[in-house]
Amino acid sequence: MAIETTEAFVVRTQKYGETSKIITLYTEKFGKIALIAKGIRKKDAKTGGILEAINLISVVFYYKSGRNIQLLKECDIIDFFINLKNDFEKISVAYAILELIYRGTAEEEINERLFSLLSEVMKNLDDGSKNLMNFYWYFVLKFLNIIGFDINFKICEGCGENILPNEVNFRIEKGGVYCRACSKRTNVDIEIFPETFGVLSKIQEISLQSLCNLTPSKKSSIEINQILHRFMSYHIEGFKIPASLKML
Ligand SMILES: [Zn+2]
Repeated sequence: MAIETTEAFVVRTQKYGETSKIITLYTEKFGKIALIAKGIRKKDAKTGGILEAINLISVVFYYKSGRNIQLLKECDIIDFFINLKNDFEKISVAYAILELIYRGTAEEEINERLFSLLSEVMKNLDDGSKNLMNFYWYFVLKFLNIIGFDINFKICEGCGENILPNEVNFRIEKGGVYCRACSKRTNVDIEIFPETFGVLSKIQEISLQSLCNLTPSKKSSIEINQILHRFMSYHIEGFKIPASLKML
């Protein structure tokens, strides 16, 4: 049994027995893992507070290969994301992102790009001022790209021409857009309205720091969620629309 150290986001926590907790982490060095924190609910509130969802922590644990749940040795806080936790909308977005990580990644599959995407999105969401759903969509599009389901919003899948915003149709199976002419020759699933198309293409291009300045209409927000959630339902096994988004 080896002693390992890594940085990690607390994805979810679950009470176990009278005094313990099982913690699911998304770690930098091991991907998604579960740890048991024995007797944690008996100990001082400080340690308990470190192992709360959303927190970025450093963790030391006993690692044994082939075991489903590893054993926590000690942990320390790196970031509580205080601003984020004082804002209902930010918390909802953060939980939605963590739920995607929980359902969309396999145990112990290391992915440093995904860990760094998660870190950057959480940090900027914590600092964000408005249009916070943009952070969720930004995360989803990059996450899909990292796990191998890139969505193309630029070029028609049929003829290879640049797509015009007023004639876009989306095909879920393909993860791509079709111009009006090519749409007639293939089974498209969703018509994307010009504003929605504009927002989605921009989110793929702009930096995290600029996301707050992009203001989609209510109608586009609903459409973007429909497109992305239908796409993920089709391609990601076990996907569910994040519960926290239903409250927004
Ligand atoms: Zn075309």
